[in-house]
Amino acid sequence: MDFSVSEKMQIILSLVDEFVARELLPLEKDYLAGNMKVLMPALEEKRAMVKEMELWAPLHPAELGGMGLALIESALVFEALGRTPLGLYAFGCQAPDAGNIEILHKYGTPEQVEAFLRPLAAGEIRSCFSMTEVDMPGSNPVMMETTAVREGDDYVINGQKWYTTAADGASFAIVMAVTNPEAPPHLQASMIIVPTDTPGFNLVRNIPVMGHAGEGYFSHGEILYQNCRVPRKNLLGKEGHGFVIAQDRLGPGRIHHCMRWIGICNRAFDLMCGRARDRIIGPSRKLADKQLVQAMIADSAAEIQAARLMVLYAAWKIQQVGTKEARTDISMIKFVAANTMQRVVDRALQVHGGLGMTDDTIIAHFYAHERASRIYDGVDEVHKIAAARQILKRYENRMVR
Ligand SMILES: Cc1cc2nc3c(=O)[nH]c(=O)nc-3n(C[C@H](O)[C@H](O)[C@H](O)COP(=O)(O)OP(=O)(O)OC[C@H]3O[C@@H](n4cnc5c(N)ncnc54)[C@H](O)[C@@H]3O)c2cc1C
Repeated sequence: MDFSVSEKMQIILSLVDEFVARELLPLEKDYLAGNMKVLMPALEEKRAMVKEMELWAPLHPAELGGMGLALIESALVFEALGRTPLGLYAFGCQAPDAGNIEILHKYGTPEQVEAFLRPLAAGEIRSCFSMTEVDMPGSNPVMMETTAVREGDDYVINGQKWYTTAADGASFAIVMAVTNPEAPPHLQASMIIVPTDTPGFNLVRNIPVMGHAGEGYFSHGEILYQNCRVPRKNLLGKEGHGFVIAQDRLGPGRIHHCMRWIGICNRAFDLMCGRARDRIIGPSRKLADKQLVQAMIADSAAEIQAARLMVLYAAWKIQQVGTKEARTDISMIKFVAANTMQRVVDRALQVHGGLGMTDDTIIAHFYAHERASRIYDGVDEVHKIAAARQILKRYENRMVR
């Protein structure tokens, strides 16, 4: 077993680390203050620099202007970028666009590729993914009320979605809607591309999340589809295959999220250790001298390493045997990495005392906004159930003694 990182990746990672520290961390104060008018033009400048450095979109294929790295290589880049909430956006690999790019690349018609995929991959436009509904359980998405009914050469979409991340300012949504109500549950829904300027696409509001409604890319929209009519050629993949396509979005997507969370862990851990080292709490005593703080540091270091290796292993396994065969590992990393991040960020906040609650460090932002990691892309409970079921199958005909 070889844990070494190739020379090529070491060079890429040092360039990314340097860029994050020099160009992106200074922008965080505008981000935390919600000063989007200053932040967004500055971020666009950084994106142009990233492209010039040929570091744009680590996972996307070269034909789409990306770096075409292998999944495990791009996982290391996502970790480096996860240190800041601005990292993935600056490097053109932010959710939900990254997942939409993957499925458009795999299933898009030549016309869809030109109209939607190319400008999206180039960072000229943004997109969103509209599946979860206000009145239906997102953890069992086959229960869906939104419909897309065929009328002549069109689909007419009606339904109410929420948590459509980054809908505000997006050029198009990939909408999941029931097209085949008579089919078995997993074959009832389809993915349909809906330009956001289509009449009947109504962004009702940006949902306030932990005290912030956000705006633009940094927001979560509630959307009412009211007789929203799009041509049938906007169907992505086959009719009724919405959940089949959604499965494709999930493997690399989970690696993407989990490594970003490991990046958050690394940042919170560095801040925690720095604060423990510097904070004087008594005559010639520092926080770092206290064993209870040392325990927090040791627990965090061990848990981060364990989660990180699990995620990298899952990425390697996806590369070796594909998403389907790696699904138990993918389920396990989703809840392990999210919970590890939550504990590490909580400890970092605790070690900072009152300072940890302020927006003078990034920790409170991570604490509030990354709580969602245990909910989106599959709630903890569903992943645990899925992993346990798959594991128990191995015991069905196996003698245990
Ligand atoms: C920040 C954020 C961003 C998001 N972005 C998007 C997006 O871009 N596009 C999109 O379509 N959706 C998005 N979502 C929605 C997300 O996918 C759903 O919130 C998620 O699937 C859970 O669905 P729900 O909220 O309806 O919870 P429910 O399905 O109502 O579940 C509620 C709770 O019930 C428990 N539970 C559920 N099932 C089980 C079970 N089988 N056993 C035991 N307990 C269970 C869990 O504790 C769960 O948290 C986002 C959500 C958040 C918070």
